[in-house]
Amino acid sequence: EPGAQVAALVIGTGYGGSVTALRLAQAGVDVHMVEMGMAWDTPGTDGKIFANTTTPDYRSYWLRTRTKQPLSNFLGFPLDKDVPKYTGILDAEEMGGIVVYQGRGVGGGSLVNGGMAVTPERSRFPGVLPSVDADEMYDVYYPRANSNLGVNTIDPAWFETAEAYQFARVGRKQAQRSGFRFTFVPNVYDWNYMKQEAAGTVPKSALAAEILYGNNYGKKSLQKTYLAQARATGRVTISPLHRVTTVTPTTGGYTVTIEQLDTSGAVTTTKTVTAQRVFFAAGSVGTSKLLVRLKATGALPALNNEIGTGWGENGNVMCGRANHLWDPTGSLQSSIPTAGIDNWVAGGAFAEVAPLPTGIETWASFYLSITNNPNRGRFTWNAATGKVELDWQTAWKQPSITMAKSIFDKINATEGTIYRTDLFGVYKIWGDHLTYHPLGGTVLNKATDNYGRLHGYSGLYVVDGALIPGNVSVNPFVTITALAERNIEKVIAEDL
Ligand code: FAD
Repeated sequence: EPGAQVAALVIGTGYGGSVTALRLAQAGVDVHMVEMGMAWDTPGTDGKIFANTTTPDYRSYWLRTRTKQPLSNFLGFPLDKDVPKYTGILDAEEMGGIVVYQGRGVGGGSLVNGGMAVTPERSRFPGVLPSVDADEMYDVYYPRANSNLGVNTIDPAWFETAEAYQFARVGRKQAQRSGFRFTFVPNVYDWNYMKQEAAGTVPKSALAAEILYGNNYGKKSLQKTYLAQARATGRVTISPLHRVTTVTPTTGGYTVTIEQLDTSGAVTTTKTVTAQRVFFAAGSVGTSKLLVRLKATGALPALNNEIGTGWGENGNVMCGRANHLWDPTGSLQSSIPTAGIDNWVAGGAFAEVAPLPTGIETWASFYLSITNNPNRGRFTWNAATGKVELDWQTAWKQPSITMAKSIFDKINATEGTIYRTDLFGVYKIWGDHLTYHPLGGTVLNKATDNYGRLHGYSGLYVVDGALIPGNVSVNPFVTITALAERNIEKVIAEDL
């Protein structure tokens, strides 16, 4: 409603936003959530809500006319193809030296991610969020996050026999032969559902290669967990295909300007509402870009100089290895990863044994490594173009490559194998041009206080991955969720 007043406005519907909305609503606050992506609740022309990873279509990319697949090539052949411009689910945002992949729609990154739900080793936590009490996190907020997200682990006996996890068993065998620690990784995918997929009794999702462009069945995205609970309170409304462009102080709160989009990305209406409190949950890139622009253009001039700094890519780097003909990884591969190789302490790398669900035998092992890359980028305002830019160079991934090599050079030496050079281009080993895990840009206890309250303005909060200074040492969404649980509890107790 134009001119409407709301008690709490949440920008974005990913992990930080969903936790915040639920807890505020439970405390009796009416919440309005604004999401620039689609609702993803209506089947497309093929009767399914989400497109398959192997056949990207109009639903797959956020306002692109050509796909930008993370694995761009196979056997040297480019895989990308033209698609109609549409407000699709996966944004491949090109930010100078790096492509940042992000989910778009109600549920944010939970719509497109691999569901790997990892709590970092406790000993590493002080390096992740130095100003946060680790006891509280591990006693209260990580358990709360894991339980509300529906995190579960694969049945180890089923893992040993499942055809779809042969690739992971090969990954384990090779990791262990080189002396590395191999760990199972929890997930929010419903493992019982996957067993039924394997038995052929339910429609297939993980076993039909669904992941990057959405998951039609077994994954417990935020739509099924936090957001379902939030809606059930009766106090939360969500406006999909609405994008927040400005937040500026007014009497009794903030004036928020919102553009309504059609599915071609065109703006159809511009609205303003007044909100007593505004929670920035647009993701690391979304929140940081918005705040850098609002500070630079005079809408929120009192934000401090930490805004836009401390951004990292969780050290993401991908690679593939070629296996011997007697070591096939299987033509059926579950799209849901379930294991990792942990060489963080000795080599600075934690590598997911990732699937390559192509439907054919590839003799390839594929890995997404999370590494302890010390490099950090920053967002800056370019007055000439009227855009926020990210200062990041592809060469800053070199430490990540060195750390990932601490695992894979050794495995290759033990196995007598080599790297694949055909997955990211022609004769290119490392997928060093991208990240799935943007973090930071509005760092906790720097741009905000120790609970996400933005310095300079009361009633403005950051609640998402922008708070985390660049690296979690594992996949990030459990930490984003747990930190949001911690912060909103404090805000509800002290500010309302
Ligand atoms: P997001 O989940 O990114 O949510 C932000 C939301 O805000 C989005 O829906 C966006 O559309 C919306 N928005 C942005 N700007 C505006 C605006 N101006 N107005 C209105 N709305 C706006 N993490 C793991 O832990 N495990 C995994 O297995 C894993 N796999 C991944 C695989 C892929 C392909 C990708 C892309 C990510 C993966 N991640 C994984 C990362 C994880 O999804 C993110 O870290 C997480 O979603 C970030 O949560 P968030 O709350 O910070 O923001």
